[in-house]
Amino acid sequence: MTLQFDTQMLIGSAFEAGTEGEETILNPRTGETILKLPEAGPDQIDRAVAAARAAFRTWSRTTPAQRSNLLLKIADRIEAEAEEFARLESMNTGKPINAALNDEIPAIVDCYRFFAGAARNMHGALAGEYMEGHTSMIRRDSIGVVASIAPWNYPLMMMAWKLAPALAGGNCVVMKPSEQTPLTALKMAKVLADILPEGVVNIVTGQGGTVGNALINHADVNMVSITGDVATGKKVLQAASKTVKRTHLELGGKAPVIVFDDADLDRVVQGLRAFSFYNAGQDCTAACRVYAAPKIHDRLVAELAGAAASITFGAQDDTVNEMPPLISLRQRDRVASFVSRASEQGHMEIVTGGEMPEGPGFYYRPTVIAGAKQEDEIVQREVFGPVVSVTRFEEAEQAIAWANDSPYGLASSVWTRDVGQAMQVAARLQYGCTWINTHFMLVNEMPHGGLKQSGYGKDMSLYALEDYTAVRHVMIAH
Ligand code: NAD
Repeated sequence: MTLQFDTQMLIGSAFEAGTEGEETILNPRTGETILKLPEAGPDQIDRAVAAARAAFRTWSRTTPAQRSNLLLKIADRIEAEAEEFARLESMNTGKPINAALNDEIPAIVDCYRFFAGAARNMHGALAGEYMEGHTSMIRRDSIGVVASIAPWNYPLMMMAWKLAPALAGGNCVVMKPSEQTPLTALKMAKVLADILPEGVVNIVTGQGGTVGNALINHADVNMVSITGDVATGKKVLQAASKTVKRTHLELGGKAPVIVFDDADLDRVVQGLRAFSFYNAGQDCTAACRVYAAPKIHDRLVAELAGAAASITFGAQDDTVNEMPPLISLRQRDRVASFVSRASEQGHMEIVTGGEMPEGPGFYYRPTVIAGAKQEDEIVQREVFGPVVSVTRFEEAEQAIAWANDSPYGLASSVWTRDVGQAMQVAARLQYGCTWINTHFMLVNEMPHGGLKQSGYGKDMSLYALEDYTAVRHVMIAH
C-alpha cells in the first residue's frame, strides 16, 4: 500500500497550507525525513478560531441525536480506513503496525462510538420547587470554542479523546496535533470536513511555542484542553488566567507498582513486560516505578530483566515488533542521560538494557534498574522511555508512603492475592487510577485522569462529557 500524505490544515471548510516556517517530520525508525510541513500563521489561527466561533452558533443548537449520528459516522470512517490510518501512525511514531492497527484503532473507533451514546445519556439533578412558587432545573450546556492540544505519543487516540467529548457536548474545536506527529490529524481533517458542518472542527499545525501559544492566549477561545508536560500545563494555566478560560489538563505521570510477596510472580513479570515497555514507555501510565516486597524482590528483578531482554524491536518484519523506537533523537538522549546518571550513582545496577542498539532509528533497549532508592532521580522524575526502576520495601506502610511521594498522581497498581490488602492499599493511593493485579488497561466507560501535578481533566467516560459541558441553573417563577 502506498501511503498518501495529507499536508493541508482545515480552517472552516478550506484546506490550506501553513504560511510559516517548516517543521521536519521524521520517521523515528530510520531517522529519515518523511516530509516538511509549514506551520500555521497568526492570521490562519485567528481564522480557525473565528470559524469555530461561527459554527458554534448552530452546532451548539443541534440535538444530542444529531451529534451522536455524526460521531458514529466518524467512527465508521476511521474503521473503514483503519489500515491507512494505522500505517500512517506507525510511520510517523515508529509504533509497530500491530499496535497501531489492533490495539489503538479499535480503541479510537470505540471512543467516538462511546461518546455518540454518551451525548444522549447525560443525567443530573431533578427539576423541582426548591423555593415556593419557583421551579428550578439544571441544564448542561456547551462551553464554546475549545483549543485542543495533543502530544506525540498517541496522536490519533489523543485526538479522539479530545474531539469526541467536546463534540458530543456541543462545542467547536481548534485542534493542534504535536508538531512531531501531525500526519494522522491531517488525514482526519479530510474525514471531519466530509462529515461535520463547516468550522465545527478546525486543524492547525505547528509548534507549541508559536501556534500552541497563540491558541492558549486567544481571547476568543473559551477552553483549553491539553495533554502534555507539566511545564506546558502550567503555561496553559497562566495564559488561561488572563481571560479565565476553562482548562482540561492531562499532564505527566510516574506510575508506582507495588508488588507484595504473595503476588503471582509470573503474572507480575508478564504484566510489567507488557505495561512498562509498551510504546517504549512513552506513556504517562507506564509501569515504571516498581516497589517490591523483600521475599519476591530478587526473583522479580531477575525474571523481569529476562523478560525485558526478550522484547522484540527493530526487526525488518514489523509484524513481529513489540516496541517502537523513541519519538526523536532528543527523547532518546534524554532517556539515555537518565540511565547514565543513575549508573554513575554507584548503588544502582543496570540489570538489563542501558544502551542504544546499533543501527538506524531512535531505539533504546528495554532497561531494568535495581537498587534504586526513593530519593533517586530515576524514582522521582518521569523518564518517558523504556526504563523501569525497582526498589525493595519492607512494610506495606513504607510502600504506600513511597508510592505517594511523587508530584504526579495519574496511575498506580497493586499486585497481591490478598483482596483485603489490595483494597486497603488502593484506597490510600493518591492516583487517578489504581489497578489491582494488572496495569495500563483503559475502557471508554471509565475515566482517565490525574491528581496533583498530573492535572485534573478526565478523558473518556461520562466524566469527560461533564468536563466539556457547563452546569447551569434555570429558575422559573410561577
Ligand atoms: P509537550 O508538553 O511538550 O507537548 C504537548 C503539546 O503541547 C504539543 O502539541 C506541543 O506543541 C504543545 N505545547 C508545547 N508548549 C506549548 C505552549 N507553550 N503553549 C501551547 N502549547 C504548547 O509534551 P510532549 O513532549 O508532546 O508529550 C509528552 C508529555 O505528555 C509527557 O510529559 C507525558 O507524560 C505527557 N502525557 C500525558 C498524558 C496524560 O494523559 N496525562 C498522556 C500522554 C502524554
